[in-house]
Amino acid sequence: MITDKGKKFFYKGDDLHTQYGCIKKPEIEKAKPGDVLKTNTGKEMLLTNGIFMDFYSKIKRGAQIIPLKDMGSIVAQTGINSKSRVLEAGSGSGGLCCFLANIVEKVFTYEIREDFAKIVKKNIENLNLTNVEQKHKDIYEGIDEKNLDLVVLDLPEPWKVVPHVKAIKHGGFLVSYSPCTPQVSDFIEDVSKSDELIYIKTVEIIEREWEFSGRKIRPKSQPIGHSGFMSFVRRI
Ligand code: SAH
Repeated sequence: MITDKGKKFFYKGDDLHTQYGCIKKPEIEKAKPGDVLKTNTGKEMLLTNGIFMDFYSKIKRGAQIIPLKDMGSIVAQTGINSKSRVLEAGSGSGGLCCFLANIVEKVFTYEIREDFAKIVKKNIENLNLTNVEQKHKDIYEGIDEKNLDLVVLDLPEPWKVVPHVKAIKHGGFLVSYSPCTPQVSDFIEDVSKSDELIYIKTVEIIEREWEFSGRKIRPKSQPIGHSGFMSFVRRI
């Protein structure tokens, strides 16, 4: 459900309670997408089906998740699509895992912490994703899968995955996401020593939101936060 101001409320099979009042279950059940319903305080709300990203925005968080601007760049640079098989580690909260699962054929996700793996399992179920295989496994020890189109790392020591790149198909991508530069340089150093990998580039994506309010048209007054650097590498 969405109010006229764009605030989203999710119907979970019961009366919907919001700060704008309540809508009873039977009223919601008999409505169809596009109908406007009224709360008991008279606030109008539009009923819609919602898209994947509406539900994605509600996922449970444990570990810090990769922001959308960065995940979008990984998809754009590597060209992954509905036929791609992708591995990502560690699963963390499942932010990247679920985002990728909505795009590609199959996602394998490795995580060493069981408490995080449980959060990821819940997020996968809540989003009705059926193409994810979770593994309780240390990726530094090896990769079981073969012929992968992409391996994405969001790990403290990504260079420890360089010896396992045979899991990636020829021409496929290895992408490492790190918040700090020492991890990036150690990763690139090991990539450069490998005769199976070509280092392409490291980027930081900066997103600056603007406000449009009458004649007050300017970048929003907020600092541009740093998320991480992405290093793109190809298997040859
Ligand atoms: N990209 C994730 C967040 C990853 S946080 C997201 O968008 O939600 C990093 C995760 O890597 C943590 O959960 C940590 O437990 C896990 N991790 C650290 N070392 C690992 C290893 N060697 N193998 C698998 N997972 C690992």
